[in-house]
Amino acid sequence: MATNDVKPLVLVTGATGYIAGHCIRELLEHGYRVRGTVRSLRDPAKTEHLRRIASELGGSVELVEADLSSDRGWAEAVAGCTYVQHVASPFPPEVPKDENELIGPAVGGATRVLQACAATGTVKRVVMTSSVAAVVYGHPKGENVVHTEADWSVPEKCDPYPKSKTLAERAAWDLVAKLPPERRFELAVINPGFVIGPLLNADQGTSGELIRKLMMRDMPACPEIGFASVDVRDVALAHRLAMEHPEAAGNRYICAGDHIWVQDIAKVLAAEFNPRGYRVPTGKLPYAAMWVIAWFDKAVNLALTFVGRKEIVSSAKAQRELGWRMRPVRDSIIATAQTMIDQGIVPAR
Ligand code: NDP
Repeated sequence: MATNDVKPLVLVTGATGYIAGHCIRELLEHGYRVRGTVRSLRDPAKTEHLRRIASELGGSVELVEADLSSDRGWAEAVAGCTYVQHVASPFPPEVPKDENELIGPAVGGATRVLQACAATGTVKRVVMTSSVAAVVYGHPKGENVVHTEADWSVPEKCDPYPKSKTLAERAAWDLVAKLPPERRFELAVINPGFVIGPLLNADQGTSGELIRKLMMRDMPACPEIGFASVDVRDVALAHRLAMEHPEAAGNRYICAGDHIWVQDIAKVLAAEFNPRGYRVPTGKLPYAAMWVIAWFDKAVNLALTFVGRKEIVSSAKAQRELGWRMRPVRDSIIATAQTMIDQGIVPAR
């Protein structure tokens, strides 16, 4: 590309979010022009980190208002964009009373974003953030079965969050399949595991809560739950690769490493931070104790469903087709906690 060529404009939805912030950084680092949607521009503190990153990288981020629950703003948001990374979706730390609080914005929002892309005529490809939650739940495959992109969670057997992700991803594929030729654009989907890694601002998001609880010793011991985790920087990389690689069109990509138990995450944290004055617990929390704590702590209540479960997923397709690579999980765990200390979420010792 000649030096005076203008790089394409990319829209990132939910720019205030944990993953979206890293997607924006990844795009700016590679010279793209970036526009982000936020629900409201009224609180500049929620996007200050984006302006700082853009200025460090010599780029800029244009921010516009759009809510997944409303049609307003989406046509303007996608106007002139070549690519869209649709990252926004409700990801609350606890189960809502009404599942439609999640499903409505997840499905309706994906539909609004994709319809706006079809109408504008400039968008070539959308990369949507789904989840392994749209892959692994509700089908009895038994222990030690490796889940791939061919698997889909069964919505009727899912809790509200996995249900919202499964239905939103299904809706996206269905909508794109039915587009008339003159409105067609490509879709690729990223299905990340449990996302950890550095925080860009003091709003740690839902996935940071576990590591914060361990660092603060808010939990006396480690519940027997675990995840296939992935670093947020590697998730952002996957979004860019799925946007750029021609063969990614029409594909979903699982991005997650080996299953890791909370107790093993705690052991990494304890080895690094306990010599610095923290008291990260490394013992195992008996199920009965977890059940009692769940009465008072809604996040622990949510985790009860996952006790003893080991979901194994394969990222081989992303590695093979996109050349995607993951950094070691130890680096991600330590970086999460260290940035929590740097951001003042966890007190410095
Ligand atoms: P965050 O909570 O940090 O970000 C969610 C973003 O979605 C925020 O920007 C939020 O905006 C926006 N959002 C929520 N509801 C609406 C709405 N009604 N209208 C417009 N924007 C809305 O979560 P993550 O960054 O962790 O998650 C981002 C995506 O990645 C989600 O789709 C999530 O399902 C998916 N994911 C996350 C994983 C994880 O472990 N973190 C794992 C797998 C998938 P606001 O700031 O205004 O609330």
